[in-house]
Amino acid sequence: MTKFVKLSNGIDMPIIGLGTFKVRGVDVLRPTLETAIAAGYRSIDTASVYRNEADIGLLLKELLPRHELERREIFITSKLGPKDHGKGRCRDACLGSLEKLGLSDIDLYLIHWPGTQGHAPGDAGNPTRRLESWRDMEQLYKQGKCRAIGVSNYTERHLTELLDQCEIAPHVLQTEYHPHLVRPGLLSLCQQHNILLQAYSSLGTTVSPEQKNKLLHDETVLSVSKEVNRSPALVLLRWAVQQSIGVIPKSTNLEHIRSNLEVFDFKLTNGQMDKLTSLDQQHHYCWNSETVL
Ligand code: NDP
Repeated sequence: MTKFVKLSNGIDMPIIGLGTFKVRGVDVLRPTLETAIAAGYRSIDTASVYRNEADIGLLLKELLPRHELERREIFITSKLGPKDHGKGRCRDACLGSLEKLGLSDIDLYLIHWPGTQGHAPGDAGNPTRRLESWRDMEQLYKQGKCRAIGVSNYTERHLTELLDQCEIAPHVLQTEYHPHLVRPGLLSLCQQHNILLQAYSSLGTTVSPEQKNKLLHDETVLSVSKEVNRSPALVLLRWAVQQSIGVIPKSTNLEHIRSNLEVFDFKLTNGQMDKLTSLDQQHHYCWNSETVL
């Protein structure tokens, strides 16, 4: 069963959630969500750009009663599409996501990307537009439409800029984080401000298929996996969770969905944690927002 972390505003967030990037269509989503909920997942990560919010909304209506779960027992995250940055636009986008999901409020709403789609990464308007989006999110939070708010793909620079200007500090930062991309500076900035760091691509999934699952086949990961008699995927998830970093592994394989929850059933030694951390290559398998002004 899932464990929880307390966000800075007192809200409990499951430390593991189900990722749904590229999981689309009711036929795929139904067995995926059904298996996840039955196994004990209580958190689902989606985004406007994943184009699956409406299907997830439909399935929540079907699955929550079937599993005798109240709305509050499931934690839903969605994200502002990078095309929807700006004053009023962010508010409309969030309300649009709520409508698709069939919810009156969302547990966590994130700015997906610090830049605006359709503008160059170096565009001088990016900082203003993302601040305007944050102002909308602060209002949505105060109005109870979002129970927690946060950012995604913000580097230390983007986060410091936000912390300097915000009225409400982000509760969560979701970013790529795994043993091939260790970010101690970002993690310590988050810890300093009581922002929960939530990792994506914990298993090193990449947008370029030729590099697929390089992390899952790393020799050190495989040797630790043998030592603890758990799968390489579980070792990578445990490495994050043991540092109080949230994880949202994506899977449509029903056995993987179930087994990923075993992350709470074992521990890594300090030596094994250090070995994994020492694999750092500053390698991004997914997006790198460093160039976004
Ligand atoms: P993950 O690191 O979660 O890896 C997913 C891949 O790993 C899939 O190919 C899956 O295949 C495989 N997998 C899952 N469990 C196991 C297992 N136990 N053993 C072997 N293989 C396994 O990648 P994602 O990039 O999907 O990231 C996770 C989630 O994070 C996304 O779904 C999304 O919700 C979020 N995300 C957010 C981003 C952002 O910009 N904020 C960017 C990217 C992701 P299979 O289905 O066959 O199990």
